[in-house]
Amino acid sequence: MRSNSFTVNPFAMNCYIYWDEVSKEGVIIDPGAFEEFEKDEILNFIKTSGINIKLILNTHGHIDHIMGNDWAKKTFDVPLLMHKDDMPLIEKSMDQAAMFGVNFPKPPNPDRIIDETDEIKFADTVLKILHTPGHSPGSICFVDEKEKLIFVGDTVFRGSIGRTDLWMGDSNILLDSIQNRIFKFPDDYVLYPGHMDETTIGEEKEFNPFLNGEFDKFA
Ligand SMILES: [Zn+2]
Repeated sequence: MRSNSFTVNPFAMNCYIYWDEVSKEGVIIDPGAFEEFEKDEILNFIKTSGINIKLILNTHGHIDHIMGNDWAKKTFDVPLLMHKDDMPLIEKSMDQAAMFGVNFPKPPNPDRIIDETDEIKFADTVLKILHTPGHSPGSICFVDEKEKLIFVGDTVFRGSIGRTDLWMGDSNILLDSIQNRIFKFPDDYVLYPGHMDETTIGEEKEFNPFLNGEFDKFA
């Protein structure tokens, strides 16, 4: 398996292409492309690499992660999957856009609602779904146990955690999702976050001040 990320839109969000090198089947995760050149860059990469996009996946419904959904649906014409608990964010996406002062096409409704009982399959790849609320109610992670990696959306970052001051955000729930759900996987799992660089579970357990007990000293 291979992954490539594109940092797009005014929020510097990571859009991932994740694909199987043999079959060339793959998925696009959080297609937040905003500017035309961003869409061109992603599409050129997909074409040049001969990747056949089978699914569009959303880690959650914040605008920086969904502002390219309309483009992705029209470009790849494949099912769009997300968790039901972020549907209100899709419905209110134009309000989100106005709040942040950006303008983009209204995102389409998902074709399939997914939860932990579902598995995402393409080629020989199976992605498990972890429901990890806190940053938003319907935040989910995509886990590839064979490759030992997780696309974590905006739950945990290198040295930081997702913000919880937006609609229905909750810091206690977020910490529980990270500590008791994501961190249940082994330390060598690689984490691909929605912003900034990749990391590992082990590194975040040791160095992330929100998660290693560092901040508890000041409480
Ligand atoms: Zn977010």
